[in-house]
Amino acid sequence: MSDPNSTFVPGPAAPADDLSETWWAAASGHRLTVETCSCGHRQHPPRGVCTACSSTASLAPGEVSGRATVDSYTVVHRAPRPDVDVPYVLARVRLAEGPVLLTRLVGGLDWTIGDAVSVAWADLGDGRALPYFIRSTEI
Ligand SMILES: [Zn+2]
Repeated sequence: MSDPNSTFVPGPAAPADDLSETWWAAASGHRLTVETCSCGHRQHPPRGVCTACSSTASLAPGEVSGRATVDSYTVVHRAPRPDVDVPYVLARVRLAEGPVLLTRLVGGLDWTIGDAVSVAWADLGDGRALPYFIRSTEI
């Protein structure tokens, strides 16, 4: 039986803005980053202010491992647009470094909270790339 969720072909993504352009630049090179503060806090998406210490001057992109665990997920059966194939898995994953990402899980529809996943990349066709996650046995 073929896997109904075996690929991820992303649709158009929102343009980069002042807060996200550094993240998009790293993602274009298939490097996953989170906003990292000199106080040690890491957060995603980029906010321009640290949610732990309120600093606006001490934030920089910090590369992360791309290893994560499934924090929550849902199987989407109703396409948001006619050009989107269903079913697919929309998930929240918790990076090994702490922050959570809203993302897609690719590789079947049967997932369990806590499953180990690792980052993969889908090229957008405009020079940028979008992370998604696949099963991993490394965590
Ligand atoms: Zn901070």
